[in-house]
Amino acid sequence: AKKAGRNTMRFFDPRMQQSLSARLALELELRKAIEKDQFQLYYQIQVDETHRPLGAEALLRWMHPEHGLMAPAEFIPMAEETGLIVPIGWWVLETACTQLKAWEKDPLTRNLVLSINVSAKQFHQPDFVDQVQAAVDHYGIDPALLKLELTESILLENVDTTIKRMSALKKTGVGFSLDDFGTGYSSLQYLKRLPLDQLKIDQSFMQEITSDSSDMAIVSTIIAMAQSMQMGVIAEGVETEEQRQLLLRKGCNHFQGYLFSKPVPVEQFEKLLHRG
Ligand code: C2E
Ligand code: CA
Ligand code: CA
Ligand code: CA
Repeated sequence: AKKAGRNTMRFFDPRMQQSLSARLALELELRKAIEKDQFQLYYQIQVDETHRPLGAEALLRWMHPEHGLMAPAEFIPMAEETGLIVPIGWWVLETACTQLKAWEKDPLTRNLVLSINVSAKQFHQPDFVDQVQAAVDHYGIDPALLKLELTESILLENVDTTIKRMSALKKTGVGFSLDDFGTGYSSLQYLKRLPLDQLKIDQSFMQEITSDSSDMAIVSTIIAMAQSMQMGVIAEGVETEEQRQLLLRKGCNHFQGYLFSKPVPVEQFEKLLHRG
């Protein structure tokens, strides 16, 4: 088994063509990862303009017995391809609800909003709304503290069905954030039909925002759009104080990025809060 492990190792390198057997090995391991309890959620803090914690984004990690900590880029594509992203997504939902329930007990964590990433495959499951409702009921959490991060590609797939589904979800009380915003093709006409709570400005704009005037213009437009549609706006990938200041001046006052913290295991996340 050790030998096979070493063999498959190099096939995790995304630069290499994956052989069929390596792909099968990854798929098999991925299939067992839930029952073997190898997934973990990391938490990245989101703050307001006074650095007050607003909540966190839950980000998936795979603690692989041989390869160690694996980032989503190394296994989400395979999970998407095989449909395993659906059971993994249910695991994320349940784990997030469990965490929200635990946070209820401490005044420091009680009001934190937890955002989870939802894949297109999961969102389009016929029982998605029921599953979200069931999780909220089962764990007895305040649904307003659970936020679903959706991408434009999910929403553009089948506009009318998507709007119906989002409206049904809205009734369960959960919130929506539109992830990676600014990289897709959503029109204003379309956006205003969706019951979104927040736009999340894609991190690709952050690198150049302080030097490239067209990136700055796009970001300013996104912020103005959110405001005109009565939505919140959060910037992700904020790494420098200069970026934060610039965003603040343009009217964005919610932030996430390495400037505040990397995604960390829950114990570390809670320590971060206690340090204030
Ligand atoms: P995303 O949803 O856009 O998540 C943000 C990514 O940016 C995370 O990468 C995060 O660690 C990283 N990041 C945060 N702050 C900074 C920063 O200041 N600078 C830079 N350069 N990067 C920053 P991560 O954790 O590797 O996740 C990558 C992607 O994998 C996510 O992108 C999301 O699309 C997907 N993903 C993660 N967790 C889940 C999940 O539970 N379910 C699904 N379906 N997808 C997930
Ligand atoms: Ca996200
Ligand atoms: Ca994002
Ligand atoms: Ca992204």
